[in-house]
Amino acid sequence: MTKTTIVDLSLPLESFGWEPLPVKIFRYDHDEGSRYVGGPLGLSPDDFPNKSGPAIEEMELHSHAGTHLDAPWHYGPTVAGKPAKTIDEIPLEWCYGDGVVIDVRHRKPGEYITLDDIKKGLKKINYQLKPGNIVLIETGGDKRWKFSDYPDASPGMSGEATEWIIDQGVKVIGIDGFGFDRPFKKMAEDFKKGVKGALWPSHHDVGRKKEYCHIEKMANLDKIPKPFGFKVACFPVKISKAGAGWCRAVAILEQ
Ligand SMILES: [Zn+2]
Repeated sequence: MTKTTIVDLSLPLESFGWEPLPVKIFRYDHDEGSRYVGGPLGLSPDDFPNKSGPAIEEMELHSHAGTHLDAPWHYGPTVAGKPAKTIDEIPLEWCYGDGVVIDVRHRKPGEYITLDDIKKGLKKINYQLKPGNIVLIETGGDKRWKFSDYPDASPGMSGEATEWIIDQGVKVIGIDGFGFDRPFKKMAEDFKKGVKGALWPSHHDVGRKKEYCHIEKMANLDKIPKPFGFKVACFPVKISKAGAGWCRAVAILEQ
């Protein structure tokens, strides 16, 4: 009998107070829920079993909060001259496929993950990318997610590395850091020094030329027991005409 193990590669939607756009969750417990739902229907809390209604949450959050998939529409209005897909238009086939983890934990926060890092990482695990692979870039940045340095705690993909992976037929690339490109502060700093192409090279340069999605704020890539030989599922929430959607990214292992 096959045994299925699922590794959760997602961060919870939660707030720590330091984010530029924090997640706000307004929670109605069972007692409040009986009034929240029952009130507009003319029901009293006594009408619910043990005066206990449904627990409900109202939320205020950004489409890029927590683990999420970015759609080409986030990168720009067009890709290679054609209208860019919004998150609700992403083929679901892109979001389920053979996963491969590339370990780049030798890269320091703020550095570029180069094409050489990707090629060497693949050589180390003796794996050749194939169309439909979901490539997961392991930086270890997720270990800082509860801390205020989290947005700056990871390296970011160079445009060259991203483009090469896409050229192998890959449509989805994930990273376990705050962003797919380098930390915002680092990019702005270099841009102001006159470095050309310093701002969001993967999002805005590659992403407007070649169609692909990336997953940001992934977690637990180190908990996947092998670098390949597993499936990844990362279906985004179908937010109408949005540039991104929250997803519960997982690795699925069959033994
Ligand atoms: Zn994003």
